[in-house]
Amino acid sequence: MREDGLEGGAGVRLMFDGHAIEAEAGASLLQAWTAAGLPLTENVGCMGQGVCGACRVLVRREGERLADTALACETPAEEGMQVSFLDHFPARRPHAYDLRALTDSWTALDQIDAVFPEAKNCRHCSGCDRACPKGIEVQRMVNLAAGGEAFAAAALFDHCVMCNLCVAACPEHIDPAHLGQFVRRMSAALTLRPGDLIARLREIERGGQPIDPEAPGANPPPGP
Ligand code: SF4
Ligand code: SF4
Repeated sequence: MREDGLEGGAGVRLMFDGHAIEAEAGASLLQAWTAAGLPLTENVGCMGQGVCGACRVLVRREGERLADTALACETPAEEGMQVSFLDHFPARRPHAYDLRALTDSWTALDQIDAVFPEAKNCRHCSGCDRACPKGIEVQRMVNLAAGGEAFAAAALFDHCVMCNLCVAACPEHIDPAHLGQFVRRMSAALTLRPGDLIARLREIERGGQPIDPEAPGANPPPGP
């Protein structure tokens, strides 16, 4: 803690989970938090790669009335921001299914409806779209899936990081993130694997492409 009551370096000033911190200009919210020396025990995953969806935050920018959801690793710190980490939102109920049963494309619509019956109740409120920090057309995916269009629905979810913010936003308890994961699995189960991938895996099985764990760059650098 500095003499002026702030934590962190020089630059923009913001409130983060009740801490008045000062971040370097251009720093992400996650960088601002860690540079301030604050403990990061939850909401931590890939540490800045934007692929794990763990660093969910609620952000209100200076002068704005409404708050947005975002990922702290991808959102620049701004003067006057108010930020709070958000907990993980689990699905409201488990969605049990057998991956091996997903291979019959004639029953795709029935299977989606059996595992996610709420999907057809979408009220087109766009809450999931607004909540998504990746700009995914979540509502469209839900509607395509509810119509049995598993491939088209799955294609929309390539960049989902399973932050579950759309789960929290959905008033119909559709659990869009998990529906998206389901149609992606269904899509993979119904698709022939690429020939070059099959050939490469067989090559590895035969020992034709040995894996060298000691190769340069194969291991993370030793810790301090
Ligand atoms: S679709 Fe849902 S779970 Fe996926 S990134 Fe967007 S808000 Fe997060
Ligand atoms: S938040 Fe739920 S009900 Fe609203 S558009 Fe998205 S899936 Fe449909």
